[in-house]
Amino acid sequence: MLLGLDGVHVEHVDRRDGLLVVTVSTPAAPIGCPSCGVVATGRGRRRRLLHDVPGTTRVRIVWRQRVWRCGDDGCAKKTFVEQVPTLVARRGSITKRAVGWAIGQLRREHATVHGLARQLGTSWKTVWRAVEPELVRLAADEARFEGVTTLGVDEHVWHHVDPRKRGPKELTGMVDLSRDSAGKTRSRLLDLVPGRSGKAYASWLADRGDTFRKNVRVAALDPFAGYKTAINDKLEDATAVLDAFHVVKLGTAAVDEVRRRVQQDTLGHRGRKGDPLYGIQTILRAGAENLTDKQQVRLTTAIEADPAHDEVFVAWQCAQQLRSAYHTKDLAEGQRIAEKVVDTFHTCPIPEIARLGRTLRRWRSAFLAYFTTGRSSNGGTEAVNGIIELHRRLARGYRNRDNYRLRMLLAAGGLTQ
Ligand SMILES: [Zn+2]
Repeated sequence: MLLGLDGVHVEHVDRRDGLLVVTVSTPAAPIGCPSCGVVATGRGRRRRLLHDVPGTTRVRIVWRQRVWRCGDDGCAKKTFVEQVPTLVARRGSITKRAVGWAIGQLRREHATVHGLARQLGTSWKTVWRAVEPELVRLAADEARFEGVTTLGVDEHVWHHVDPRKRGPKELTGMVDLSRDSAGKTRSRLLDLVPGRSGKAYASWLADRGDTFRKNVRVAALDPFAGYKTAINDKLEDATAVLDAFHVVKLGTAAVDEVRRRVQQDTLGHRGRKGDPLYGIQTILRAGAENLTDKQQVRLTTAIEADPAHDEVFVAWQCAQQLRSAYHTKDLAEGQRIAEKVVDTFHTCPIPEIARLGRTLRRWRSAFLAYFTTGRSSNGGTEAVNGIIELHRRLARGYRNRDNYRLRMLLAAGGLTQ
């Protein structure tokens, strides 16, 4: 009880070699043979060394595990050892509560399996072997899909090696963008499936069942026709909404293209250090309201350096206008801006902006639906992408897709609250 280890009591506590060593055992009690039920007789103890949650020092649990012999001589079981599932898994070497601690560290503290292994005084493999079955169990629990009313879909590249070795480079991710009772978007990564296709999304939706699909009111997506088809087929009652994050990204991508083209036309080469437009590429990607006075001056100086740079400035203003539709506090005002964007961009003399305008016109209803569904998809996809990037960097890459899926689901809230 002293240590809060369920099912065992502490015999003694010792500090040696910078370790806290806690010897534990179960209270004596009659036990039946697990095979035939006949009362067993004690055959002494076996010492099992377990890793426990570290404090200021590492902690080792010495479990004096009871060995029993079946009372029936004819029983095939002969001898067996006691099991205390609340203390440790059958063949485990990390206590159950240390496994829980490790999962909490991976989930909330940006821990790495390597770092946890170091803290526990064991290997990467030992930690992962203890944690993985628990994550598999959590991932298989369909209850985690309950209450999803806004569902997002997004994809990312998870490796850069030969697909024949590691499978498709892209993964499609399903994100829970529903609001909780406090009105906050949940942003939970629900699942990752191989490939980027409407088919991958559609079959995942089919697997979730009728109740789940009927529950989804809003389906957020990036402008990819495959996803739209999947939504039309599997989520008939849901409103398709272009994800704000992706639309704003289309705007910044168009500005980037204009900047590179103008650079090439005026200089005859790609931008390099010292070129005026090259120096402002990060400024052009930021929101106008976030620019410092110094950045404003740098932007103006770079634009005024050549009359040809005006085109970049106009493109930047267009992207800012698009962005402001989402950033305006008043939703009706945002909708007015969005309608103006969709009605004017395609006529813009800057080809990159005109193309963006045509894309938005093709997706008109899904683009404008954002403003009639109460900002249902705001920020969540971006937040999940940020967590995925951070954890991929922390782990210095992944080789195994199943491990990658479990780790990303855990870090991005898909397995635990
Ligand atoms: Zn028996």
